[in-house]
Amino acid sequence: MKIFKALTTLAISIGTLFGTLPVHAREWSPKAVVDGVYSGIQKIHAYRATPRLIWNTVRGQRGNCGPIRGSHYCTRVYTVYITNRDIRMPYQHGHAAFAYIIAHEYAHAMQTPYRFGRGRSYITELEADCLAGVYLGLIPNIVFDNKDIREIATFAHRIGDYAWGSEYHHGTPKQRVKAVVIGMKASVNGKGVSACRV
Ligand SMILES: [Zn+2]
Repeated sequence: MKIFKALTTLAISIGTLFGTLPVHAREWSPKAVVDGVYSGIQKIHAYRATPRLIWNTVRGQRGNCGPIRGSHYCTRVYTVYITNRDIRMPYQHGHAAFAYIIAHEYAHAMQTPYRFGRGRSYITELEADCLAGVYLGLIPNIVFDNKDIREIATFAHRIGDYAWGSEYHHGTPKQRVKAVVIGMKASVNGKGVSACRV
């Protein structure tokens, strides 16, 4: 498949960038993934824009932006909410897939100060996927090997949807894979977040 060929190339270039040891990390616990993604993000953006994160929430629970229907970023209190479902589901693929979810929600927080996509549409969602890819690739001391990248890609594919016209449309499976891969490539080739502007 074309997509997997592209992924292999990407894994090789990320491996090259980080030196000679593309050793697959053990499966990290959700807590370790959250800490890892957050410490990476803080290194990139300093403390200027690190939202609070509340994770392992339950659907229906009350959050600061109303009842929690799914993982989201609440602008008003500058907080990312991650539901227990959004931990369980990506973990069926592995810890890298979970890291992508955290980075995606974090990207929504970044879309405000950096004047990325406004409002809510699948374009904003795909941009968040792309930004997530950039963040993942920039986290220090982490090597995303082929298996990790495949985890991210298969999970992005799984959560794509065809609900065109719905306010919950996040992009098709293909579009979501493409967006996160563009982001990961951009973090390797130095284009960074500018590759994600729509
Ligand atoms: Zn989103």
